[in-house]
Amino acid sequence: SSLPNGTTKALTNAVLAAQTTNDAAGAPVQVINEEKKFTPDLSGYISSWGLAEAGFNYDVVAVFGSQSTGKSTLLNRLFGTSFDVMDETHRRQTTKGIWMCRGKGMNVMVMDVEGTDGRERGEDQDFERKSALFSLASSEVLIVNIWEHQIGLYQGANMGLLKTVFEVNLGLFGNRGSEGMSQRTLLLFVIRDHVGSTPLANLAQTLQADLTKIWDSLSKPPELADRHLTDYFDLSFTGLPHKVLLPEKFEAEVAELRKRFLHRERDDYVFKPAYHKRIPADGVAHYMEGIWEQVQTNKDLDLPTQQELLAQFRCDEIATVALEQFTAQAKPLRKPIESGHVLEALGKSMRSWKNEALARFDRDASRYHQGVYHRKRGDLVVQLHATLGPLFLGQLKNLHKLALANFKREVVEGVKGDGYDFGELVRKSREKNEGEFVAGALEGLVEGTDWTYEEELDLLRQEITVIADQCRADETKKMINHIERTLKRQIAEPIELALNKAVPTMWDSVLRVFTDTLGKATATYLIKAKSFNCTEEENTASLNILRRRAWQALRAKVDEQTSDTSILAKLRSTFEDRFRYDENGVPRVWKPDDDIDAAFRKARDQTLELVPLYAKIQPVDTSLEVSLPSDGGDELLAGEGEFDFAATLVVFSESKQVDLVAKFRRDADAYYVEAKRSIVSSVSQ
Ligand code: GDP
Ligand code: MG
Repeated sequence: SSLPNGTTKALTNAVLAAQTTNDAAGAPVQVINEEKKFTPDLSGYISSWGLAEAGFNYDVVAVFGSQSTGKSTLLNRLFGTSFDVMDETHRRQTTKGIWMCRGKGMNVMVMDVEGTDGRERGEDQDFERKSALFSLASSEVLIVNIWEHQIGLYQGANMGLLKTVFEVNLGLFGNRGSEGMSQRTLLLFVIRDHVGSTPLANLAQTLQADLTKIWDSLSKPPELADRHLTDYFDLSFTGLPHKVLLPEKFEAEVAELRKRFLHRERDDYVFKPAYHKRIPADGVAHYMEGIWEQVQTNKDLDLPTQQELLAQFRCDEIATVALEQFTAQAKPLRKPIESGHVLEALGKSMRSWKNEALARFDRDASRYHQGVYHRKRGDLVVQLHATLGPLFLGQLKNLHKLALANFKREVVEGVKGDGYDFGELVRKSREKNEGEFVAGALEGLVEGTDWTYEEELDLLRQEITVIADQCRADETKKMINHIERTLKRQIAEPIELALNKAVPTMWDSVLRVFTDTLGKATATYLIKAKSFNCTEEENTASLNILRRRAWQALRAKVDEQTSDTSILAKLRSTFEDRFRYDENGVPRVWKPDDDIDAAFRKARDQTLELVPLYAKIQPVDTSLEVSLPSDGGDELLAGEGEFDFAATLVVFSESKQVDLVAKFRRDADAYYVEAKRSIVSSVSQ
């Protein structure tokens, strides 16, 4: 398992050593040194012992007792640890401060606490008190190591130690019930060099009486005055034979005692659940450090507060780890989203990363103080959502862009071919692309967020409408052009025929043709416009265009039919009809007594009457009159050029009429001269 940051080189070496010697117990660590400093390496050691992931599935035991009473020797036997043991040749204290080691093959953290020798006071007593507080706050079982011959010596060092333990315990757990702290601790008395002449039961009785005496002598706060020792402690007594004199018996009984630490199913199994301090294994190092800090600064040691502080610290750490992995998962998506890609199944990924992160957090953090855990979980969820939010928004933006682009492309492609229904094309494409946007947006939603896509959808709808309007305007123009071409074709021949018959109702015929054809064109337009979803205004504008174009087509045809050549030919043929043919349509042969002059004048004047008839578009039946608006502020008509309807009714101006009359007169005069000559020639024959 990986070691946390801040792991020192010493630890790394120790871990390597432990690994290379394949020592499952691992190396012991000096948790608190001679200077009463707490090690920065404990967390790394716990990891190296393989206990960091143990959750609540581990136990803590500490040993207490005078110096050189064989405590370390006992621990090494019971737990397979490798605490230093005093060398027989130079008797001096070996255990300084507090050491910790993992039990070999056991999920047990074993604490070897520096002993006091009772004769010296002061410094020693201070440390004794601090280490008692520290051990009680974290251990389930306190082994009290005691020589048989010390029992009954009420003034002995052990009694001072036990008094301290009880006092300290009252401070820590006295007010049981508050914050659910109902901690019990097992005091396991191990009587060393038990000779056997006094039965264990008697020794236990003596000890118990002493303990009660000590308990009663404590000055307790009034609210705890009637509390008993057994309200806080379970007591257990065992004896061990002399290690040097009876080595085999000693080893055998230690092995028997070891079983009580190993076998859960035994009645005398020492690690009862009630003793557990409920600190998750991955928080033990931080918890102990906090406890020691409080103890060192002589502050009141308030365990519920310590547990909350621990929970805050650990939940933050766990959240950071959960967040790191999550961030690493989310990060690679930022670029593609920023560069406009719509990501497939983004929501599914986001949801699963979020769930994975929360699962990682829950697994470790849920063991800590529940209030803190839930609060920190809430914070984490906020952070997760804050990371995912921009991805979702980016995705929405890209979905929007894609839908708009697809719509545009589909409509532009759609109108390229033939036989399409523009209105239907727009409706279908809009439905499809808005639908795809909504589906994509819904897929991206993450539970528990206040994310919405409605605003973006509204925007998309508006932009689609703008494009649709633009396309419809183009389509409408195309349609108008098409209708105009058809109309031009339809009016050409009837107008030509009407203008060739110079009767007073000539313009009535022309205008009737015009009105009928325009009516049909208008109907055609309206049918199509309906499927386009054109607005009233658009229809009005389009029909104005159509009417003007139709009128201009009519005018063009009139101009063509009234060009100088055409009109003069028409006048000539009318004149000829009247002057050179009689009422029956038979060609005249002039005789000398015919009144050529009168006939000529009559035919000429009648023909000249046609000039004002052609000069202005004016029907006899006034109901046939057409009226068109002249240039107005109409936007769609703006591109159609200047237009003055009244002016378009005039075919020949006054001066043009004079000009035409003069030209025609010359033609007519020629006919006159020719008629005269024909008589002269017939008389002379
Ligand atoms: P600690 O200071 O309490 O940890 O004591 P140690 O475990 O270092 O042992 C101190 C000395 O006592 C060593 O020389 C041991 O060999 C010796 N010793 C250990 N166990 C016993 C025992 O059960 N009886 C006796 N008489 N000596 C022991
Ligand atoms: Mg020792």
